[in-house]
Amino acid sequence: MYRIIKNIAQWIILILLWCRYFTALWDPLAGGQDLSVGMAPYRDWRPFIDGIYSFSGYLMWPVNTLYNGLLINVFPPSDWFPGIYMANLLAMLQGMYTAVPQAQIILASDTIRQAMVGYMDFLPLLSMGFYCLLGPLLDVCIDLFKNVFWNLFIEMSFTKRKEGRYQEALEKRAADLVKLNVEFKNLSKENSALAQSVITDELTKVYNKRFFIEKITYEFNQAKSKKQLLAIAMVDIDHFKKLNDNYGHLMGDKVLKAVAQVAKSSTPNDCFCCRFGGEEFSVIMPKKTLEEATAIIAKVHQNLPLLRFEEDANLRTSASFGICVVDFKTPEGQALTSYEEMLKLADDGLYKAKLNGRNRIESCTVGE
Ligand code: GH3
Ligand code: MG
Ligand code: MG
Repeated sequence: MYRIIKNIAQWIILILLWCRYFTALWDPLAGGQDLSVGMAPYRDWRPFIDGIYSFSGYLMWPVNTLYNGLLINVFPPSDWFPGIYMANLLAMLQGMYTAVPQAQIILASDTIRQAMVGYMDFLPLLSMGFYCLLGPLLDVCIDLFKNVFWNLFIEMSFTKRKEGRYQEALEKRAADLVKLNVEFKNLSKENSALAQSVITDELTKVYNKRFFIEKITYEFNQAKSKKQLLAIAMVDIDHFKKLNDNYGHLMGDKVLKAVAQVAKSSTPNDCFCCRFGGEEFSVIMPKKTLEEATAIIAKVHQNLPLLRFEEDANLRTSASFGICVVDFKTPEGQALTSYEEMLKLADDGLYKAKLNGRNRIESCTVGE
């Protein structure tokens, strides 16, 4: 749109200036000529011609000002193009007019003379050049202005301010999210710690009875349905009551913890050492043969008497063990209906171990 308007304006300006140029060329009034001679003053067309002068005069104002105000004032006309050129040419024409008869013939016509003087009216031509240059200059200025203004507008606009506010809100959200994430992680840790504590015995830090029951129920059902092996061992500290009586319950607790630690560290990762209650522990050993289960329990059996306590260097502890291994591939194994039956068999072994003098392992198998 701007381009169209600019081009139209440019064309109007150029046409007006050309009109001025040619009108001045032929108009006897332009050179301040005597109206009685030469070209007629154009009668009815006079207002129109004067209009052209007037409008083009305004258009020529910048170049006029530039030329007269700057060039002519700084440099005298005779020294400066086209002042010097025009002055010399006029002098030459005058000389020719009076001296050369042939020239008189050519220049006799006021029209031609007027035309030549008009030709010297170079300001419309300079103005045309000026406006031709002004177009691209205007484009550059407008582009520059647009850029500067647009950037300024964006900088100060609501959008920018809103963007800032959104950014702030976004940063706050991000910070909240980080905080929430940390809280979530802490909660997860607390949660897993809590979950762990639910299945851990407080004193000995091995699995508690709740876990034992859940686990043995699950493993019993698994082994039975998949026709696999399952071993369980009951562990009972020997003469623990006496130990409590002799050394006190605090010492008893300490021994309990130490025994649990030995049992736990001797148990492989796929087995589960639990505190069954009091000074009794049970070890669940899924998929273990009698030999494998005995090897695990033998390790505990051998390590317990090696325990030493700073309170009394002579204090020794031992335990009795009852192992029960069931092979669920066999009909005898499949005949078992609950883990309690297995537990009872392991307990029987333990009882036998106690009867046989304690500090020993007794085992029984079902179907193996
Ligand atoms: P046995 O060799 O026949 O197993 O004899 P025992 O004395 O170990 O067996 P008994 O069942 O007579 O005694 C178990 C004792 O264990 C009784 C109880 O005071 C003690 N006891 C049970 N739980 C704890 C505990 O958490 N801490 C302490 N210090 N003693 C406990
Ligand atoms: Mg007991
Ligand atoms: Mg005991």
